[in-house]
Formats: sequence, C-alpha cells, structure tokens
Amino acid sequence: MPHTITVLPGDGIGPEVMDLALHVLDAAAAKFDFQISRSTHLVGGAALDATQNETPLPQETIAASEQADAILFGSVGGPKWENLPPDIQPERGALLPLRKHFGLFANLRPGSCHPSLTHASPVKNELIPNGFDVLCVRELTGGIYFGTPKGREERNGEPVAFDTMVYKKSEIENILHVAFKAAQGRDKRLTSVDKANVLATSVLWRETANEIAAQYPDVTMDHLYVDNAAMQLVKRPDSFDVIVTENLFGDILSDEMAMISGSLGMLPSASLGNMKDDGLYFGMYEPSGGSAPDIAGKGIANPIAQILSVSMMLRYSLGETAAADAIDHAVQATIDSGLRTGDLFTGAEGESKVNTIEMGTAILAHLDKVSPSRQGPLSPR
Ligand code: NAD
Repeated sequence: MPHTITVLPGDGIGPEVMDLALHVLDAAAAKFDFQISRSTHLVGGAALDATQNETPLPQETIAASEQADAILFGSVGGPKWENLPPDIQPERGALLPLRKHFGLFANLRPGSCHPSLTHASPVKNELIPNGFDVLCVRELTGGIYFGTPKGREERNGEPVAFDTMVYKKSEIENILHVAFKAAQGRDKRLTSVDKANVLATSVLWRETANEIAAQYPDVTMDHLYVDNAAMQLVKRPDSFDVIVTENLFGDILSDEMAMISGSLGMLPSASLGNMKDDGLYFGMYEPSGGSAPDIAGKGIANPIAQILSVSMMLRYSLGETAAADAIDHAVQATIDSGLRTGDLFTGAEGESKVNTIEMGTAILAHLDKVSPSRQGPLSPR
C-alpha cells in the first residue's frame, strides 16, 4: 500500500522549497522501496487568491487531508493578505483551523546546530564545540491559551484582565507519552519542564510525569523549572536530548531554541495527533519559519527546513525510519561539505554560497550515496 500524503505548499518561499523537498521524498522512496501517493492542494494566500478571498482553507483541502496519512505543509502568509479580516488571514484562518480539525496536540520542534555551523549560533562557540540537537515537545491545545474563564472586566473602578491555566490529567498523559516515545528513538533522556514550585497545573504535571516515567524504564527523566530551563538552554544546550513542556512554556522555549540554533531555514517542525494502533501518528509537518516574503521568488531560500520536515514525516507518520535517517545524514554531509545558502553563509574558508536548487541537488547527491543498509539516527545526538 502506498503512503498517502497531502502537499500544501502555500505562499512565499513555500512552493520553492517544497519542490526540492518532494524531489528528496521521491528519491528516498525509490531508494528505500516504498511508494507515496500524493496530491497538492491550495492553502493560505494562494487559496484566498483562488477563491476571491472567500477562504484560506478550502473544504477540498480539508477533505483530501482527511484521507491522508500526513500533511506536508510549506508556509502561509505575506503582505498581500495582511489587511484582510483577521479570521481569514492565512495563518489564523488556515494553520490554526487545520491543527484544531485534526486534533494536533503535540508540537515537536527540533532545535539543532550542526557542528560546522556553531559560528551561526549566538551561543559562544566554546560552549558548544560539537553543536547540539534538542527536541522540544510542546503541548499545543491546552493550558492558558485555551483555558476559561478568560476576559476583561471592571473591578473597583479599574480594568482587570484574566486568563486561566488549566490542564486535565489526560492531556498531560497524552503529551508525555509522545515525548517518552520520541526520547526512546533518540538518546533516551527526557527533561520535563514545569513551574511546580508555584503553579497547581505544574504540580499535577510533575506527578503525572513521574507516574508515566515508570512505563518507560529505558528513558532517564529529570525535571527543571521553566526559568532554570531557559537559562540552561543558553548555557549548555548540548546537554539536552528531549524537552517536554506545556503550551505557554513550550511556545517560549521552542523559540529560544530556534534562536540559538542559528538559522530558521534549518528547522523543521511537526504537529501530531493521537498515536494510532500501528504506533504512528497523523501529523502535519512544516518548516519552523514563515513564508519569508523578503526573499520569496529569488531562488535563494534554504530548503533544509522543508527537507527535514519530510524526514520527520517519514519517521513519525509513515514509519520509514531508515529513509528518515538517510535524509538526516545527507543534510549533515551537505552542510559538512561547506555548501551554504545565504542565511548561513559567512564567507569563512571552505564555505561556498549556493542557491535553493543547488543546495537541494547536493542533498539529493548525498542521499544517493547513503547506504540503504545504514541504520540509526545521527550520532552523537
Ligand atoms: P519568516 O520566518 O517568514 O522570516 C523571518 C526571517 O527569516 C526573514 O529574514 C526570512 O528571510 C528568514 N527565513 C525564514 N525562512 C528562511 C529560509 N528557509 N531560508 C532563508 N531564510 C529564511 O517570519 P516573518 O517575516 O515574521 O513572517 C513572514 C510571513 O510568514 C508573515 O505573513 C507571517 O504571518 C508568516 N508566517 C507563517 C508561518 C507558517 O506558515 N507556519 C509561520 C511564521 C510566520
């Protein structure tokens, strides 16, 4: 049976980098002997243009995605659609409804810095001689962003605003299972981040994490308060493997990780729903960055975030782990060879500046050289 995916390139650099990512997917399928059935649909500004500003998320796009094992997403948005009513703007009207429609509660955001790109990180080189590779697992549909009551009112003659942070134990269990399973596929270390010295939700979070940990004896878990986690991430990012945390803390920590990684153009992300009986997830995979209107159409965007989104999709939704590993290795080999798109180029000795197609072509060439029998993720993580 072929794997079925919907491809939603979107706007800006989305279609440019998606094109390369699909070439890599096809090459991986041929090399590792699996089949992909894919259909491409409109989303974001492209959908607004096609529907005379009716919707950034056509029903046909949702219907096709319902039939698929995964969604491969590019990016949406741009100045052209910024003045439309908020509920039909590309991000708010397409991205958030897609997450809600498919119950995508787990956001996986890798924050990694290849050893040869440590100069691009704002963290001092001597602190990260071998780079780092952290995976942040963020709860995406609960917590203070969605808790009620939420609002604003007048109390004793002055305005008061309030939000509610609320978590059900089952929500905490669900995200912790995703994080423990992700850690099992990596270096088997998990850091649970909370604020259990102050927040009741965090006390429940920590209790639940300790209970779930008993089901994963092969994974070592520790706890950090979120303020300390924010500090340790800039001091010793290479000491972390997987971090799991609630929605608000994850929003902030995953952006901190993106910043210390050096370039948005390198970072993929995944939003996952419940695990299915076969151990795989329905998920949506996309670069961490946006549609980059400042460089769209110039052919200079870094395609790596989109290509690594393919690798995450193969790993978490399609169960093609060897192909995912091979793509990760091919990307690393390409970076190690000195090729750099503009976002990474510093002019240092050994670097060659390339455009989107040249970077994608080099990754394809390295993928061709990776032995299909080569197993295992990049090491050391
Ligand atoms: P952005 O991520 O698009 O761009 C920020 C900076 O990073 C820009 O200088 C851009 O050129 C650079 N950059 C991003 N990806 C790159 C890549 N692959 N290669 C090289 N450089 C890259 O963020 P922004 O400028 O704040 O937003 C632009 C548009 O994207 C807005 O309309 C915003 O709403 C939208 N957006 C969409 C998503 C999404 O689709 N998931 C996420 C964030 C922002």
